[in-house]
Amino acid sequence: MLIDLEQQPADALLALIKLHNADPRADKIDLGVGVYRTGQGETPVFGAIKAAEKKLVETQDSKAYLGPEGDMGFVEALMPYVFGKDSPTMGGRIEGMQTPGGTGSLRLALAMVKRAGYKRLIVGKPSWPNHNQICADLGLEVLEFNHAKADGTTDMDALRAALANADASDAVLLHGCCHNPTGIDYSKAEWDEIAGLLAERKVLPVIDLAYQGLGRGMEEDAYGVRRVMVAVPEALVCYSCDKNFGLYRDRVGALYAMVADPADLTKVMSNAHALARANWSQPPDHGGAAVRLILEDEALTAQWLDELDQMRERMRQVRAKLAEAGKTGGVDLTAIGIQNGLFSIIPFTPEQVQAMRSEHGIYFAGSGRINVAGLTMGNIDKFIAAVAAVTG
Ligand code: PMP
Repeated sequence: MLIDLEQQPADALLALIKLHNADPRADKIDLGVGVYRTGQGETPVFGAIKAAEKKLVETQDSKAYLGPEGDMGFVEALMPYVFGKDSPTMGGRIEGMQTPGGTGSLRLALAMVKRAGYKRLIVGKPSWPNHNQICADLGLEVLEFNHAKADGTTDMDALRAALANADASDAVLLHGCCHNPTGIDYSKAEWDEIAGLLAERKVLPVIDLAYQGLGRGMEEDAYGVRRVMVAVPEALVCYSCDKNFGLYRDRVGALYAMVADPADLTKVMSNAHALARANWSQPPDHGGAAVRLILEDEALTAQWLDELDQMRERMRQVRAKLAEAGKTGGVDLTAIGIQNGLFSIIPFTPEQVQAMRSEHGIYFAGSGRINVAGLTMGNIDKFIAAVAAVTG
């Protein structure tokens, strides 16, 4: 019976939003939920998206079904950004499909991994919690390795060891850029080494690219994915447009599969299409269509890239200011300056996380993960002082 189901824990981040909303203090700070915020604390719709949506309303003459692959114009227009302008399909070896957000893409990718008979998914720890949740739901065994060291750099030895023990029955999930939750990314030299190890161990890479353009730039943030793609015969790439086009609730993503021989692509993608049919049948159209209209129009593309640059620049300023604070109470904020994207982790104890909430009205996850975009030039000094007070 339905009542035989077990109670599931509430989503911790959603619970945090409620706590923040209930706090009457005017100067409270929300560093919890993972959305970009401007210097005024807002998460506005991109101007380029507004313009594309207007165009969409005026020109779209049907909302008839498109099929499980969604809007292929959108899927293909993104490819030069992900895989590079010179070889966006790697000689016809890559094909994609639209998915409901990066989450939908990951769901399909990991279901493909399971269906193809892979035994384990190797995942860094910590990772975005949904990676493990999807694996648990699919019954895919997870093998974890330590992602980062206490000094704020990647733990390459842990990844090397995990890959040394892996073989062709394993897949590995890597964050393409802007690692969530640590902000700690692989350097170019590290990606070069990883690409070689993946090829040598014959491990299937699944690359999660959910923040392209929010780290160092659109091209720079694609270094890892492109480097891996040229080294291995097969790969899956899970893409989200929900951050870099600000489309969160419109659920815009894509799944790309690369195989060694283009003749095998149809067979491989037919599995992804069948899985999509069994899950959501077709992805929502609106957001993907808006992205396509931007990418098909030079002026709108320039406007979008400019808006993305401003977001990245603001986050770099916040990161630089935190890094400048250096040793603050009992923690050192310096490494935050070289980390990327929306998130970084400050090693607060559970008691310190509570004290930040109760004494200072500053809300973030129990793991110590902060959304740096929740900080502004108006509240960052208060945040730094609070960190010093609770950790000192
Ligand atoms: N991967 C990572 C690492 C993420 O942080 C997120 C969003 N928080 C996603 C994938 C999925 O994004 P969405 O489903 O909202 O497009």
